[in-house]
Amino acid sequence: MVNKICLDGMKNGYFEFKIDKNDNMKTFFKKIMEAAKYYTILGNRFLIDYNIILNDIEDKELKKLCEIASNFLLKKSFINLVDNLLFYVLYRREVLLLRNPEKTREIEKLNEVLNEFSNYREKIAKAIKGSVKKDELTSRLYNGIDRLVVLLTHSCQLRCKYCRVKKFEADMNEDILFDAIKLLFTSSKKDLQLQFFGGEPLLKFELIKEAVDYAEYISKKTKKNLQLILTTNGIELTADRLSYFNKHNFLIEFSIDGDIETQLRTRKSKDGKDYYSIVKENLNKVIKSDIPYYTISVVTPETVSKLYKNFKYLVEKGHRRIQINYSLGFYWGTKETNELVKQLIKIMSFIKKNSELGIELVNTQKTRKEPVVLNAELTVDCDGTIYLETGICLEEDFLKMKKNFKVIDVLEAKNIDIYSTNRFNNFYRLVKVYAEQYPGFRKIIVNNIELGNFLDRFLKGAKNKYEN
Ligand code: SF4
Repeated sequence: MVNKICLDGMKNGYFEFKIDKNDNMKTFFKKIMEAAKYYTILGNRFLIDYNIILNDIEDKELKKLCEIASNFLLKKSFINLVDNLLFYVLYRREVLLLRNPEKTREIEKLNEVLNEFSNYREKIAKAIKGSVKKDELTSRLYNGIDRLVVLLTHSCQLRCKYCRVKKFEADMNEDILFDAIKLLFTSSKKDLQLQFFGGEPLLKFELIKEAVDYAEYISKKTKKNLQLILTTNGIELTADRLSYFNKHNFLIEFSIDGDIETQLRTRKSKDGKDYYSIVKENLNKVIKSDIPYYTISVVTPETVSKLYKNFKYLVEKGHRRIQINYSLGFYWGTKETNELVKQLIKIMSFIKKNSELGIELVNTQKTRKEPVVLNAELTVDCDGTIYLETGICLEEDFLKMKKNFKVIDVLEAKNIDIYSTNRFNNFYRLVKVYAEQYPGFRKIIVNNIELGNFLDRFLKGAKNKYEN
């Protein structure tokens, strides 16, 4: 197998990269790291010509790594390749620990790589200190962040079964919110997103207005584009508020699981009050306004058999952009996964058959990245703690988990880009927190990753098959 990539020291801006029978995973990674170092120093001037020569290599894992490297398109950053390779190593280790723990030698080899290279960004930064300007170093080593979620309150009128946000008296104050907005604008990205989240963020409508004024002011000053997003249960969405959000170009994510039976089963109110008629009425207002929005429905192993019925209910009510989120932190067995696929096929067929309705399943859009369990978003909590959001979604003890997934305090953060994460980092962090402290979670994490990967392939295939 000969592809073009080559590293073995630099020659005229190219590297030669040969893997031979004396190499093992560790030496492979050493060579990759050497290349990553050059990449970080040279940036766009870095050209790689791979030439992976796999002479007499028997090690299956090493072959797989070479295959990943060979298939990687160098359009993005070389650093992304390193992340992909490490992701594979971590995934293999987790799967072996789960399904073949007796393979101790194999596990040990994977561990050695993870122990030595998981913090490779810091190692590279240290090794080349002074050779590259600080800004360039950051942009070459980190992918940058373009989105920040602000959790305005822990209060909510509902008590959804799958919700992991702890409900207690806590609201964000203006100072913390403004610091969070300032931090978002330290990003190197041109297009930014600020998402208002909770609890129920509409309980803090006046605070949202303050934030919007401030964020729009900085957006103008810095000449960066800003997309404002509101995730809401819709109970407090009045006509006046809707026109305010429309005026400020908001995108609304309206959470509703489906018909009244499902909604009342999974999304009970805090005090037993009937909120469903209000939500229905407010959803009608949203449909009539021309504000961009989509509905988000959460499906659990318990409600999955009703997914198609609920989807149709939403369509009949006039919704045309619908996102379906499978619940994270739950184990999806074969039976539930098959049911999920069966229901999704029905949905995709319905969309195709009724193409004149223009229904869009948001899950099939490119912006949606599976497995979702690894898409940790930076979230600023009411008290200013910035944490990785998805980690917390997997367990009910919000406060304990928040501690484990803390990134930094908003007051101390200087440049948002250096907190950017990727699939490998998020997985590694999850494993550290869950698998080491609560081994039972290994099964759920691996399951949620495999479900996400599977759905990704399935939805891509289904999109081609069922869309016109
Ligand atoms: S509406 Fe949102 S914040 Fe409130 S309980 Fe449900 S999922 Fe949680």
